[in-house]
Amino acid sequence: MMQGTSGSLALLRALVGDDVITVDAATLAPLETDHRQLFHGKALALARPRDTAAVAKILAFCNAQKIGVVPIGGNTSYCGGATPDASGTQLLLSLARMNRIRAVDAANLSMTAEAGCILANVQREAAAAERYFPLSLGAEGSCQLGGNLATNAGGLNVLRYGMARDLVLGLEVVLADGRVLESLSALRKDNTGYDLKSLFIGSEGTLGVITAATLKLFPAQHDSATALATVPDPAAAVNLLALLRKRSGEMLSSFELLPRVALDLVQRHLPELGNRGMPETGEWQVLVELTSSRSQNSLQDWLQESLATAADKGLIVDAIVAQSGEQASQFWRWRESIPEAQRRDGASLKHDISLPVSSVPEFLSRAQPLLATCAPEGFLVAYGHLGDGNLHFNVNQKPGTDRAAFLAREPALQRAVHDLVHEFAGSFSAEHGIGRLKVDELARYASPVELDLMRAVKRTLDPNGILNPGKLLRG
Ligand SMILES: Cc1cc2nc3c(=O)[nH]c(=O)nc-3n(C[C@H](O)[C@H](O)[C@H](O)COP(=O)(O)OP(=O)(O)OC[C@H]3O[C@@H](n4cnc5c(N)ncnc54)[C@H](O)[C@@H]3O)c2cc1C
Repeated sequence: MMQGTSGSLALLRALVGDDVITVDAATLAPLETDHRQLFHGKALALARPRDTAAVAKILAFCNAQKIGVVPIGGNTSYCGGATPDASGTQLLLSLARMNRIRAVDAANLSMTAEAGCILANVQREAAAAERYFPLSLGAEGSCQLGGNLATNAGGLNVLRYGMARDLVLGLEVVLADGRVLESLSALRKDNTGYDLKSLFIGSEGTLGVITAATLKLFPAQHDSATALATVPDPAAAVNLLALLRKRSGEMLSSFELLPRVALDLVQRHLPELGNRGMPETGEWQVLVELTSSRSQNSLQDWLQESLATAADKGLIVDAIVAQSGEQASQFWRWRESIPEAQRRDGASLKHDISLPVSSVPEFLSRAQPLLATCAPEGFLVAYGHLGDGNLHFNVNQKPGTDRAAFLAREPALQRAVHDLVHEFAGSFSAEHGIGRLKVDELARYASPVELDLMRAVKRTLDPNGILNPGKLLRG
């Protein structure tokens, strides 16, 4: 930093306006700790610009002064991606005030929204235009579009619609030096050179600050069918997935694996959600959803028939097909409350992994025994987006064991789990990104060529290393 701290802040205030920069401790405090309370930092100040021009001024200034800038959205990252370091020299940059929907083009099935829009609001705006924006995750009431794109978020509908990256047509990004990449194209076909926007999606604020995006919309959903099915084991779940894909094609939009232990945690810690209709037996459940833009109300019968076929083949033991929208929502509330139930239960060690779907059963049978040697104080809560091969391979602390001893198991357990994932040609970070948490994992598992290219891109776009320092790549 070239100026003294107070000198820099005074200059910044003069540049963008007093009300854009705050050092108020109460405002800053919740943003200096990550969602999982794993990382704690101290920010120089918080900048809350109202438009792209102000973001550009802030970045140009910080680049010249070599001030680190940490973009922050809803602060729901599971990897400490938006937490400043402890130096008190990094500026937090929140886009929360940039929350306008700039345009909805229903005929083109596209929408341009600013990065500070809460994801649930983007979904609502699409619905108001009788369109559908499929990105959906447990944090959708507080995470922001900029954070979703910067982390290339996944969520509940990847099976059918892909990750956040697949939902973007165009992007507006402020570069480290304050230049603006205006690439808010609404085209579905555009082969004019490198696909620059893709570089920024999933770059976790280390290459540029996303200020707006043009998103793909889809026809509104008019029919859906949801079921909770008990499967004998994960191998049967994988076969059920194949059967439903064959019968339902692209109508299959979600296929989630829920172990009994996860439902038990939800029941114990969130009794207000109710347990009417919750399967009482069976170690493994899957939550299945079919959706269609056609309004023929036929999906429920279709799902019922498919599940009957699955039962004949021994792939399911039992199934409940939701009889109302409310019952379907109930199933989803149980599913989406697992992280919160886990949190209330106590300490947990988390692994956000992905594998070829076909390898999941064998992986689980080889990974489960790792607990006995690497974390005997823990029990497995492996659940998630089985349709995408994405498991949250989480381990919770057993009651009555020592918390510190359990948490101290993390490095050894993580190494064993991630090495096994690597052996299966999987990923140690399926959808949550790298942030601060997994910098060493990326350095370990990415190939030398991949790391060289990533560093070269970083040097080119952020030669002074001001953008989200210490995240994603080792300094
Ligand atoms: C209950 C719960 C459920 C979740 N479920 C899922 C899930 O199913 N799938 C999934 O993928 N994730 C999930 N997450 C993780 C998290 O919600 C996502 O990573 C989300 O996309 C982060 O958005 P955010 O606005 O909170 O970003 P933040 O946490 O604020 O930031 C995340 C990263 O993006 C960067 N960033 C933020 N805004 C910008 C911007 N405008 N420009 C450039 N960089 C920026 C930050 O610097 C940081 O590196 C879940 C989290 C919770 C708490």
